[in-house]
Amino acid sequence: RIGVIGSNMVDLVTYVDRMPEAGETLAAPRFAMGPGGKGANQAVAAAKLGSDVLMVTCVGDDLFGRNTQSSLAAAGIDARHVRIVPGLSSGVAPIFVEPNGENRILIVKGANDALAPEDVENAADDLRGCGLILLQLEVPLRTVYAAIEFGRANKVPVLLNPAPATPGLSMDRIAGVSFFAPNQTELAILTGLPTRTADEAGQAARTLLERGIGAVIVTLGADGALLVEPGGIHHIAPVAVRAVDTTGAGDAFIGAFAHHYVGGHDKLTALRQAARYAADAVTRPGTQNSFATAAEFALFCNT
Ligand code: ADP
Repeated sequence: RIGVIGSNMVDLVTYVDRMPEAGETLAAPRFAMGPGGKGANQAVAAAKLGSDVLMVTCVGDDLFGRNTQSSLAAAGIDARHVRIVPGLSSGVAPIFVEPNGENRILIVKGANDALAPEDVENAADDLRGCGLILLQLEVPLRTVYAAIEFGRANKVPVLLNPAPATPGLSMDRIAGVSFFAPNQTELAILTGLPTRTADEAGQAARTLLERGIGAVIVTLGADGALLVEPGGIHHIAPVAVRAVDTTGAGDAFIGAFAHHYVGGHDKLTALRQAARYAADAVTRPGTQNSFATAAEFALFCNT
């Protein structure tokens, strides 16, 4: 089983003809709502592929929280450790999309900010049985550090996806994670090194190995991904598709990697499957809604 300790959000997407001026009220042509948040996205990707997934997260006592609970349940995720926090809103992301595709995004973390080390402790009995714990940075850093500590003490491998880029992240406190999985931008911010090309990204990632990280996985968007280990650097070739919406590509990739790795595949095989799964997801609009089930993914792999 896979444990995800992280965020959930509800994306509130308003398609506008133009943004209103201050004080102006304007009609907009279209609105769409969809489940998101990096933690929930990764959990849903792994669960849709058939993994047994446990999610530790916080929601507010509101409509959006109930929506999140039902979308986790619909994906078959164990939601016994979803805590309802009275007095806080659920995490929401109001997004405004202009006709040229330009978007403006606000993130209201709400109850995600209440996810605490105690939530990790309360789920300890269930987390101990996990083959991998997935972490991101949309919840308080102290909770992320507590989860890393838990993994180390209980010998449960941890994958940290340092997203969104958080300058305050202590590299000392994350030493010992099995997998560190940034995208190019996050890797550049964390190392202060250039990461524009695959070669540059590989060199930058290598500096992290000196800090006691087992392996660095760098996602390179349409250029695929890298696996950087003490033994060498492997390039995972991109899968060519016509991308329609790359929102959540990184989350699809990590969820699918976790599914295949915990399912017994070696790292490189799991990463190749992850690249296929994320490539398929970017061919459809939406975030969690664009993630394939096991059957849909099998179909994609056979065509
Ligand atoms: P993030 O969404 O975190 O910024 P990336 O953009 O690096 O992450 O995408 C994650 C993974 O998704 C990539 O490593 C790649 O495998 C896949 N991917 C992303 N964009 C494309 C694309 N346009 N074509 C094919 N695969 C893609």
